[in-house]
Amino acid sequence: MSTLTVKDLHVQVEDKEILKGIDLVVNEGETHALMGPNGNGKSTLLSAIMGNPRYKVTKGEILLDGKDVRTMEVDERSKAGLFLGMQYPSEISGVTNSDFLRTAVNARRERPIPLFTFIRQMEKAIEQLQMKEDLAHRFLNEGFSGGEKKRNEIIQMLLLEPSIAMLDEIDSGLDVDALKVVASAILDLQARNRMGLIVVSHYARFYSYVKPTHAHVLMDGRIVVSGGSELIERIDSEGYEWVEETYHVRA
Ligand code: ADP
Ligand code: MG
Ligand code: MG
Repeated sequence: MSTLTVKDLHVQVEDKEILKGIDLVVNEGETHALMGPNGNGKSTLLSAIMGNPRYKVTKGEILLDGKDVRTMEVDERSKAGLFLGMQYPSEISGVTNSDFLRTAVNARRERPIPLFTFIRQMEKAIEQLQMKEDLAHRFLNEGFSGGEKKRNEIIQMLLLEPSIAMLDEIDSGLDVDALKVVASAILDLQARNRMGLIVVSHYARFYSYVKPTHAHVLMDGRIVVSGGSELIERIDSEGYEWVEETYHVRA
């Protein structure tokens, strides 16, 4: 049973306080939609949970199964079971996709994965995501289209099998067919490993596939309202103005 617990989290970026006290609990098997207008701190929250050093935690706690991860580096958090599919994946020249993936997979294991087993798993993931076969041998994300980068994040997730996965606008840049492929890969893995998910998206279509069990609206650095799928539907049809008015916040 995996649980991510965020308590009264305050985060600064370049000396500016972006998150002003976030409380969030994500249990195994749950899917939490994180919504909110642009620039309100969604990516900041996910980056802080993953341990990106640009996002400075000034107060609060981030617990994975009760263990504080704040002093852990990104790779240690990955090893502990956290995963972030980034909104803007970086391009890394000189490192092939397969080398990157194998290093990441091995970091999560006691003994290195046998090469043949790794290759088989990687090929399976590439096929599931309907990516081109040369993907493994290309430099990480270099020259990938927006949609290919997003699908590549999902390939990483499939191989790492995190216990808590965070997917930041993973649907942006995907065409309708690619969106289906990505959503079914997410659901497949979740059905197998019961991972807890935090998903950020602006689109009801994506949520209709991944079926969040919980939904939250993040505005001005705080979660101002939480609920279920009815909250997603209301925001899809009415936007965020009613949230501002009801809860007296400004986006
Ligand atoms: P969202 O994901 O909700 O659109 P972000 O978390 O990306 O919002 O951004 C929240 C605020 O923090 C914005 O004002 C943004 O400009 C600022 N911010 C986020 N990351 C950085 C960064 N690396 N450097 C400077 N400012 C940042
Ligand atoms: Mg944004
Ligand atoms: Mg963002």
